[in-house]
Amino acid sequence: MNTPGPSEIQEAVAALLAAEALPPIIQAGHPVLRRKAMPYEGQFSEPELHALISLMRKVMHEAPGVGLAAPQIGIPLQLAVIEDLFDIPGETARTRERTPLPLLVMMNPEYTAVGSEVAAFYEGCLSLHGLQAVVERPRRVRLDYDDLAGRRTSREFSGWPARIVQHETDHLGGTLYIDKAFTRSLATNAEYAQWWAHPGIEEARRQLGF
Ligand code: ZN
Repeated sequence: MNTPGPSEIQEAVAALLAAEALPPIIQAGHPVLRRKAMPYEGQFSEPELHALISLMRKVMHEAPGVGLAAPQIGIPLQLAVIEDLFDIPGETARTRERTPLPLLVMMNPEYTAVGSEVAAFYEGCLSLHGLQAVVERPRRVRLDYDDLAGRRTSREFSGWPARIVQHETDHLGGTLYIDKAFTRSLATNAEYAQWWAHPGIEEARRQLGF
């Protein structure tokens, strides 16, 4: 499969925007999830870009999820939305440092670890439906990205928001969380709910051996 050109991407986006139904979320195994997405360099008009972002946000909410990268709906551009306003019970929120994250649109993002602390928790992906695994990631990162006005912006994230930022930025480089996960921790949502739905991962680590 060849890399699509700008006009093919514009046509694909026009088709998504014209469709009545929300697009399905592309699942692992599709090549679009494994290619490095192309930089966003103003390929769309401002109204088109806003319409695409609004569509991505709807798909993310509908799933429901806390992030969506453009390749997950078949658009190979470095564009992602993140938003986490879920109400999480106290102890889980505290252990995972899951603090509210208002909508952020990231274009051409890159992250770098700040400090050497890491955090390991179960995470899932809308493109690996029904599965979760433990991924160890830097606890704090600096994100450099272009905002909606095209300004290069730098912002630090820690805890769960840092995890979301890394997960979505990884998508744009063709990386899925399973590439970085402890594969022995892999669980279906049902088994996770039965055995490992604790704030931390210590019990899972002992019993699954990772
Ligand atoms: Zn994902």
